[in-house]
Amino acid sequence: MDTGAQHNLPLLRAWAGRVGAPLTERQITQFLDFREELLAWNARRANLTAITDPQEVEARLFLESLSCAAALPVAAGQRLIDVGSGGGFPGLPLAIAFETLDVTLLEATGRKVRFLEHAVSQLSLTNVSVIHGRAEDLAHEAAHRERYDIAAARALAPLPVLAELCLPFVRTGGVLIAPRGADAASEAAGAARALAALGGSARGIIAPPDPAMPIAAGHCLVVMRKDAPTPPAYPRRAGVPARRPL
Ligand code: SAH
Repeated sequence: MDTGAQHNLPLLRAWAGRVGAPLTERQITQFLDFREELLAWNARRANLTAITDPQEVEARLFLESLSCAAALPVAAGQRLIDVGSGGGFPGLPLAIAFETLDVTLLEATGRKVRFLEHAVSQLSLTNVSVIHGRAEDLAHEAAHRERYDIAAARALAPLPVLAELCLPFVRTGGVLIAPRGADAASEAAGAARALAALGGSARGIIAPPDPAMPIAAGHCLVVMRKDAPTPPAYPRRAGVPARRPL
């Protein structure tokens, strides 16, 4: 049973505001419910996340997802797509924290999609749509191509692959945010050619606001910008971006 202070999301309470995502008690309750559902489904059907410790869910999944807000111009009505959302990261924490953000979670695996739909309904979130599909297909649909202000992807793929799967969704002038680890700077440099081919460029790396923040060592955000429309050939057909990275 949830009793001790560690079950009450002390890290989120202390740090969410510092990454630009201050939370009300109602939002804290939504995070508690989300964690409960995530751990329960993970125990039963596995593979939503490798993380099973409640405090790690709080730090590694919730707080690190919210840290994306440090790179966001979160204005009312902006559209964000989370590509390869898995158990909902980073899209669901952002949707909880920013009620006016219009969030789409894209996920290729049916079992994970069913969890996402369940979580969205349990948490009564009205600003989230869940789509079962592959980025390589959805990004060629008119309703989704270049229709988002922001794309975000956590642990989806190496950066050049991630860029091919995500940038086609972003409107010119919009941003792509990728939470990464300690190698972010060299990864971003290595992705420069792929980004240019896709109509984008790296804009910078955002480090956590305070070294005392209880998140993974080296965690940071690679921020990329869409400078021009992506050529229609991208993304290439399903599986090709990962097999033959740009
Ligand atoms: N973002 C989540 C999950 C990371 S695992 C997290 O940080 O925990 C990567 C996820 O991307 C998997 O759930 C996988 O099914 C999904 N995925 C991989 N390639 C994809 C593609 N081309 N289109 C959509 N989803 C994809």
